[in-house]
Parts: sequence; structure tokens; C-alpha cells
Amino acid sequence: MDTSREEKLAAIHAGIRVCTRCRLHETRTHAVPGEGPADARCMFIGEAPGAREDECGRPFVGMSGGFLDALLAEVGLSREAIYITSVAKCRPPSNRNPRADETGACIPAWLHDQIALIDPEIVVTLGGVALKALFDEDVRMREVHGQVREQDGRRWLITYHPASAMRFPEPREGMREDFRKLAEMPASRDAPPGGPSSVAGNYPRVCSPASEEEDAP
Ligand code: SF4
Repeated sequence: MDTSREEKLAAIHAGIRVCTRCRLHETRTHAVPGEGPADARCMFIGEAPGAREDECGRPFVGMSGGFLDALLAEVGLSREAIYITSVAKCRPPSNRNPRADETGACIPAWLHDQIALIDPEIVVTLGGVALKALFDEDVRMREVHGQVREQDGRRWLITYHPASAMRFPEPREGMREDFRKLAEMPASRDAPPGGPSSVAGNYPRVCSPASEEEDAP
């Protein structure tokens, strides 16, 4: 285990929990920094916390989180091998989308450091809000999902948000297809002896998910 990287990630998480850089801090219960191994090969980036996530300070713990876990399991991927975060770490009021100035404050303050530290080979953007915030693109997800882009020395896979895939058949099938592609994408970073040759491998868990107690008021 890379203790230094673990400690640096914990420091980023601690900073996010007390961040006041945008108006979303005024209405949050808990900021949701992210969760997963500090040396994850794969990072998921969603939109912003919802009500359940805001309650307990962990990403994707509501219904769409359960759906995401099930979809990952279908293609043989484990959530425990993936670092999951979002473009805004605090819940927007009334579940509105995060605004451009909010993601514009949050991404350079925190997400850039998370990506640089964790250094994932593959980043998966979940949904149109994350795509817009990261690539400045207003496009129909059905036209771009499944694309793999090379940027900053990483592969970026574009897919739907699980909340949308949970509700509607077309995004559900699209996301399934994209996750099958993800499971087959080769990982190039040196694997531990006997370790995986793709992101679908049984990569050892190196970072326990944050407990709900950790973020309890
Ligand atoms: S959304 Fe991001 S920038 Fe805004 S207060 Fe929360 S952590 Fe800070």
C-alpha cells in the first residue's frame, strides 16, 4: 500500500469536507469527496451528490448507486476497485444540476488534484453534466456514449448517468454496452504478480470505503 498517496488523498478529502469555495456549501449536510482505492486504475466521475449521498457523505449510495453496482457486477467489475467521485462535491438544492460556476470552482480546486494523485488509466464520465463540465460539450448522450478519448495520457470513456439508465431502456442498454467495453479495456499499468491484465481483474482492495459513521454529524 502506498501510504503517502493514501495520506494525500485523505488530506484532499478533509479539505473538501470543509470547503466553502462555492454557494453549495451553504446548503449541504455533508460534502462527498469520493471513495475508492488511492491507486485505482479506473475513476468514475459523476455529477453531484443526491439526497442520500448528502446524508451520509458517500458517493452513489442511493438507488442509482445500487443500480451502478448491479451493472458493474453484470460485467464482472467490482466497485471496490474503482475510485468514484463527481464534478461537484456538494448537493445542489432541490436536486438541480450543479451550475457552471459551481463545477468551475470545484473541478480546479479538487478534482484536478484527485486525478493527478490517483493517476487512473481510465476515467469514465457519467452523464451529460459531467461531460459538459469536463469537456465543455453540450451533446446528446446517445451520440457520444461509448466513445473512448485520449486526453492527458489517459483514456476517457463517455457513458450515461446511472440515474438515467435506471429509468429508461435506451440509456440502460447503452450503459450496459459501455460497461462491457470498459471491462475489456486492457490495463497497461504494471499489475501485481498474479494480478489482472484488464480493469475487470480482481484488483486488490487498498482503500476501505468511508464508513457512514466517519461523516456522521
Ligand atoms: S461543491 Fe466543491 S467548490 Fe463548492 S463548496 Fe462543495 S467542495 Fe467546495
